[in-house]
Amino acid sequence: MSLNAESTAFRSALEVIRAVEPRVADAIGAELADQRESLKLIASENYASPATLLAMGNWFSDKYAEGTIGRRFYAGCQNVDTVEALAADHAKELFGAAHAYVQPHSGIDANLVAFWAILADRVESPALRKAQVRQVNDLTEADWFALRRELGNQRMLGMSLDAGGHLTHGFRPNISGKMFDQRSYGTDPATGLVDYDKVAEAAREFKPLILVAGYSAYPRKVNFRIMREIADSVGATFMVDMAHFAGLVAGKVFTGDFDPVPHAHIVTTTTHKSLRGPRGGMVLCGPELADQVDRGCPMVLGGPLPHVMAAKAVALAEARRPDFADYAQRIVDNAQALAEGLLRRGAKLVTGGTDNHLVLIDVSGYGLTGRQAEQALLDSGIVTNRNAVPQDPNGAWYTSGIRIGTPALTTRGLGASEMDTTAELMHTVLSQTTPGANADGTPSKAKYVLDPALAETVSKQASDLLSSFPLYPSVDLG
Ligand code: PLP
Repeated sequence: MSLNAESTAFRSALEVIRAVEPRVADAIGAELADQRESLKLIASENYASPATLLAMGNWFSDKYAEGTIGRRFYAGCQNVDTVEALAADHAKELFGAAHAYVQPHSGIDANLVAFWAILADRVESPALRKAQVRQVNDLTEADWFALRRELGNQRMLGMSLDAGGHLTHGFRPNISGKMFDQRSYGTDPATGLVDYDKVAEAAREFKPLILVAGYSAYPRKVNFRIMREIADSVGATFMVDMAHFAGLVAGKVFTGDFDPVPHAHIVTTTTHKSLRGPRGGMVLCGPELADQVDRGCPMVLGGPLPHVMAAKAVALAEARRPDFADYAQRIVDNAQALAEGLLRRGAKLVTGGTDNHLVLIDVSGYGLTGRQAEQALLDSGIVTNRNAVPQDPNGAWYTSGIRIGTPALTTRGLGASEMDTTAELMHTVLSQTTPGANADGTPSKAKYVLDPALAETVSKQASDLLSSFPLYPSVDLG
């Protein structure tokens, strides 16, 4: 039997790796087998195409290319220029952005690039002008000391973690929380929705330099036009982190007020979540911030990863095809079908549903913590992650929520009827799991009781469900 190109490519690659370190080849093969078998509902994960994966595994990895397209600090970067320009051009076309910077290695890096571009524009440049010098090296010791203090004394307003915001939006365990004086806006306790009047009030009181929108666990759309008006009313730079929903923007599911690109001064994203590209980050902005953004390396980034930029170019080319819009719409349709299936069976959902790619189940409705629910589902072949819910009494470790998302299962081809089956499997597990106790009889937030026979039955049903939707059907590792 003659093998197709993708099977040949991956088989050959594994053979080459196996000759050096067979355990790595085995782990790569085992990872594919695991991914094929699990009902993956992690909202931030997806399955990149074979072309995207293959674009990463090559000699571009060996090249240093600090600088920007056509202006490098190293010789011999003409081929890196080609892929970086392709990735940036695809990103600009796809999102309608004036400028795209595709070097960030991840979402956290993209946010750091954006923060420092804003600080350079709003704090450093005025200080240089005032001192009548062109660059920081020309400042006196006293002016440099004063500028460093000013850079470290700026304010950011972002969504609170328990309302669905991200650690990189000014929270203390992350560098952003150490850099900025941060304040959060939450969601309305009654509806779970962003209350724009409250955001405006917080902005008026706090007067942030940066207003951040974007989330990891908020199941609704955000109106970026209103957020921009709020930013403008207090002179803040408006930044949107669309890491989670970039695929929905690319696929034109989020348009008008819900498309961040026309409204924000600067937009950051990851490329590996709903956008379905390689692991990485990206920054989009208008011409005003472009020069500062392009200084991301060496400001906060090491040398770019040309192999990943090559894969970004491939994935962004895929996202520009008409079928990506259909894919993006199916992500949302599936999330809504999953939410409806869960609600019908009695689950409690934060905001009562979803209009994006994710659903947040408040598992306190099942008498469980997020930790207990996550493990019980995992025992049953369903991969999710626990997540805080607004005003979570169980904190960020145990939590009271389970976050689920549909980008990955939609890539496999599952649709509304499979989402209903998924809801049934999840509800079966959650409704039949009970909290466990510690050795001394006190209630545990981690231990749980679930009949192993039930877990096995659900695992089998989950794998039967997946068997009609093979993952990487074109890849046969033999
Ligand atoms: N921003 C948001 C909103 C995210 O959800 C995430 C990741 O979960 C990140 C940034 C960080 O992305 P990365 O893990 O690629 O650094």
